[in-house]
Amino acid sequence: MKYFSTLNPFQKARIILSLWYIGVLLSILVFFSISLYTSQSRNFTRIVLERDFSSHIPRKLTISEILDIKEQIEELRISFIKNMVLLDTIIIVIGGGLSYFLAGKTLFPIKNVLEKQKEFIADASHELRTPISALRTASEVTLRKKNALKEDYKNILVQILDESKRMGNIVEDLLTLSRFDIENSLTKKECRLDEIVKEVIGELNPLIINKKLNLKNVTYGKTTILADKNKVKQLVLILLDNAIKYTKEEGTIFIKVKSKPKSTLSILDTGIGISEKDKNLIFERFYQVDKSRSDKGSGLGLSIAKKIADSHKAKITLESNLNKGSKFEVIFS
Ligand code: ADP
Repeated sequence: MKYFSTLNPFQKARIILSLWYIGVLLSILVFFSISLYTSQSRNFTRIVLERDFSSHIPRKLTISEILDIKEQIEELRISFIKNMVLLDTIIIVIGGGLSYFLAGKTLFPIKNVLEKQKEFIADASHELRTPISALRTASEVTLRKKNALKEDYKNILVQILDESKRMGNIVEDLLTLSRFDIENSLTKKECRLDEIVKEVIGELNPLIINKKLNLKNVTYGKTTILADKNKVKQLVLILLDNAIKYTKEEGTIFIKVKSKPKSTLSILDTGIGISEKDKNLIFERFYQVDKSRSDKGSGLGLSIAKKIADSHKAKITLESNLNKGSKFEVIFS
């Protein structure tokens, strides 16, 4: 019992589930063994008589013959029970092993989710702890200053505002990611990818104008997909927002939407690009190539984009060259 309490929840659940499987197997075995014994015990006398006298059973048996027959019936009964118990034990041992294996298989997805959640909470608390402690230190230092100026208070307020915006974004992104794990339910309907892209461009237009970017949007007719429109919009928003963020002023961004051979969206920027080593890592939670250049980002955008793509059975591909630009492509199946 002491050993059991030291096990992790997955191991405990695995043992409990195995015991349930074994319990069910044992009940079935007991039921069948009793039924088999009851039906076979009636034949013990016949088997012994046939064995001893073949088909010529004498009408009258001597006392010693009767005692001998009784002894043989008893022996047969004991041997039958012994064999049955041995067979049941073998079945229980093999069944127990199989139950433990199957319980592990059944619980594997839950184990995965538990581990991911643990990792997720650790990453999230680490990401939130850093800005919180930075803010605390800055506020304490300013409050302790004897002759603090209005300017000092203003600076700290600006820092608080910046960091709280960043933390707000992180919390928002965390909620989006965890909702994906919990709900995982999408309301898919036929929608137009080219129209979603146009809407997103409209929303991000102030940023495009602000950076004097040259945006080219090419669409080849209507591109209809079966998707959760809001989620796909979020995916396009993340990719286009990154393209804007990581392209220098007056740079160019090309957007292409086509329906053949598959419904595809590509966003090509002429920005800073991504190195070969970072290409796979940027889809991981909280990964940022360079925190200082990521401005107020959380490093969660592309992991959300990937989750959205995965939940639509779409693929995100990336081609990039450092200092030349990147091309993200979302291919719907
Ligand atoms: P962030 O909030 O930091 O932008 P993302 O998950 O969206 O987080 O992106 C992860 C990292 O990938 C970014 O920090 C950035 O370094 C890199 N990245 C994403 N998109 C681009 C892009 N279009 N060009 C260059 N680097 C990019």
